[in-house]
Amino acid sequence: MVSVTSPITPELEARLVAWRRDFHRHPELGFAEHRSAKIIADLLRAMPGVSSVQEGVAGTGVVALIEGAHPGPCVLVRADMDGLPIQELGDRPYGSTVPQVMHACGHDGHMAMNLGVAEWLSQHRERLHGQVKLVFQPAEEGPGGAKPMIEAGVMASPKVDHCLGMHLWNSLPAGVVGLCEGPCMANTDEWSLHIQGEGGHGAMPHKSVDSVVVASAVVQALQSVVSRNVDPLERAVLTVGTLHAGDRHNVIAHTAQLTGTCRSFTPAIGELLPARIATIAEHTCKAHGATCHLEYKRVYPATINDPVQTRRAWAAIEAELGVGQVVAAAPSMGGEDMSYFLNAAPGCFLFVGSNEPQGMALAPHHHPAFDIDERALAVGVRAMLACVLDLLKGPEGA
Ligand SMILES: [Zn+2]
Ligand SMILES: [Zn+2]
Repeated sequence: MVSVTSPITPELEARLVAWRRDFHRHPELGFAEHRSAKIIADLLRAMPGVSSVQEGVAGTGVVALIEGAHPGPCVLVRADMDGLPIQELGDRPYGSTVPQVMHACGHDGHMAMNLGVAEWLSQHRERLHGQVKLVFQPAEEGPGGAKPMIEAGVMASPKVDHCLGMHLWNSLPAGVVGLCEGPCMANTDEWSLHIQGEGGHGAMPHKSVDSVVVASAVVQALQSVVSRNVDPLERAVLTVGTLHAGDRHNVIAHTAQLTGTCRSFTPAIGELLPARIATIAEHTCKAHGATCHLEYKRVYPATINDPVQTRRAWAAIEAELGVGQVVAAAPSMGGEDMSYFLNAAPGCFLFVGSNEPQGMALAPHHHPAFDIDERALAVGVRAMLACVLDLLKGPEGA
């Protein structure tokens, strides 16, 4: 097994933390990652072994190429750049300086780690039998930057053979990398249901169709979809996230709106969920004398790790980090547009443990107090380098 024989130096480790903290102080929302993209592009251009840097790909995306000294396949390594519309809690010295925007998912660390990967590879091109395409994508938290980047031609010239990515993961301790063979993150859908009742006086319910009562009945009835329609051995989620109806205590609501999300892993369940929502909503409304209109939108497909690539990644990372440092990770019902890259070329998405090993006390992703154990950054870079070097080790396994 090829190991990263020039391990991360203390200087690079310090730079990873400094980059991450700078991105953390200046979070940007999806497709507005102008500052982040500029810093990334400037840093990549300053690395002598990086042969091309493209900015403005699908808006704010950045793509860089490192050409190995020897011919071989092309590996794409992807990071996402966007923050979330969350007001950060806490008073860290590197806290967000932007009101209502925060890196609460770890994408600040993803950018830093991808820069670290780029720096190391750009200094070790003699080790590479092939090419590495570094992709920094916008808007993972929505509406999605991976798909437009692929549409902009990121998978071509040179053609990408394998895709790799990583996500800092507070469900695992720092020092550990989690891998999940097959589906690892869920197919993500969004829906909204408009219920049309008949408004009226709150004292004369018999002369109206109460949208609050109808919406409540629909919410209750939808609870049977996962429990009674989905095979208990499959995984699915149906969540009603919002219910809005009515304006005044003594007025019967004329309309009601529900919005929600569905998560699943297989095409069959992905078809079943909207079909059941439509049937239940339509008939429940009809039973109450109301009508409804369902809008159902597919957001991201399921993120699927290629089994062969995942086993290769496991062996390569274990050789680098040590036995016991790679663990089988449970799939997440969260969504990820890394799925588009993995659908375009087989590969693997790594969960890089980022919670405090003692206590696991750091807040979960998307929490206003989210933070990471920064030791995870160097671990992520080493894990990713191990995977890249394994894929580009050449015919003789040099
Ligand atoms: Zn997120
Ligand atoms: Zn994320």
